[in-house]
Amino acid sequence: MRLLHPGYFDQGLDADPELAASIHGELARQRDGIELIASENIVSRLVLEAQGSVLTNKTVEGLPYARYYGGAEHADAIEALAVTRATRLFGCRFANVQPHSGSNANAGVFLGLLTLGDTILSMGVEAGGHISHGHPATLTGRDYRIVRYGVERESERVELDAVARLAREHNPTMIVAGGSAYARSLDFAGLRAIADEVGALLMVDMAHVAGLVATGLYPHPFPHAHVVTSTTYKSLRGARGGLVLWNDPALSDRINYGIFPGVQGSVMMHAVAAKAACFGEALRPEFRAYNQAVLDNARALAGSVAEAGMRLVAGGTDCGLMLVDLSPQGVTGDVAAKALEAAGLAVNKNQIPFDTRPPEAPSGLRLSSNAGTARGFGVEEFRQIGGWIARVVAAPDDAAGLAAVRDEVLALCRRFPIYDGA
Ligand SMILES: *Cc1c(COP(=O)(O)O)cnc(C)c1O
Repeated sequence: MRLLHPGYFDQGLDADPELAASIHGELARQRDGIELIASENIVSRLVLEAQGSVLTNKTVEGLPYARYYGGAEHADAIEALAVTRATRLFGCRFANVQPHSGSNANAGVFLGLLTLGDTILSMGVEAGGHISHGHPATLTGRDYRIVRYGVERESERVELDAVARLAREHNPTMIVAGGSAYARSLDFAGLRAIADEVGALLMVDMAHVAGLVATGLYPHPFPHAHVVTSTTYKSLRGARGGLVLWNDPALSDRINYGIFPGVQGSVMMHAVAAKAACFGEALRPEFRAYNQAVLDNARALAGSVAEAGMRLVAGGTDCGLMLVDLSPQGVTGDVAAKALEAAGLAVNKNQIPFDTRPPEAPSGLRLSSNAGTARGFGVEEFRQIGGWIARVVAAPDDAAGLAAVRDEVLALCRRFPIYDGA
């Protein structure tokens, strides 16, 4: 007797209408709205297929060609391919492609390279840093002594003098650079000089700029950083997950053991397959054109919101994301984000440096050109988006006004479809 009904393995989403409704709803949401949230992007069908592939069924532990389970020859080839492509893409010697997320990549590096109680000097969340760099609510915040640097009040930028002063005072074992809401470039050579002076390791978390780094459009963390971490689904436009890169063979065992068994168990091979796919795409010339467009579009968007009277934190952007201060408009980020969502524009509220308002109702918004650029928007479309943001922020309670913008957004989205035929 067959235990499974005929066609069991071949039934798709149709077999679960309740779930299918929400997944189809999500596709429609992505298709019919404009995604401006910096941690999102729109991947190719190649990446979707790799991540939804039969590698879902395979469990492996350990590194390629040194696994604890058998039957790993294809998994080995896939992970080795992802590693080779990652090292080519970023011009370094070693990569670990196993982290399930950016936070796990960071936690694994800390666990491998630091000792309990060591001091980490990292950028505070209020200044644009990421919670996984030692926020008190996280395990990393409990396990290490965290000292924060921020941005200067005037420039709203990281100033090396201030970082150096803190480094001399606190003697960190590691300095961490990079954040989630910091739009300007960072001086990695200058940060390395500070790290060398106090005998610290320099870790750069390039999650939001990895695509630009790979294509030479943002300062490269190597050769300055001892270790570089990233996510692979933001500016890399790929699989969900994280990545660790380094050059010194003396760090290899500590980093690899920090990831597994340090903070993770078996590998998500379907995600690793999708990482291999997105690194392959990123090695193609089209990916440089995409990233150049991300930059051009971010500048166009920044220009148009500034023309409408909004204030750009730190005066502008050197990457795909930007922070916008709505204080001149007298609107808070939460109110603006809600109204923008009703108008078909997805953004996130964000605190600005030295914000006097709370995180739930902050002064700003964070915007990004990553996802819109992926679906083909150019400078003209991003100027248009800036104009819509201005209209919504000027009258967030005007339901008819929001509906009018919603219609225009929809018309634009119809001209730039995604996943046709799905
Ligand atoms: C998004 C982000 C992360 C964390 O990524 P998760 O995959 O959500 O864990 C880490 N560091 C930076 C700088 C990020 O922007």
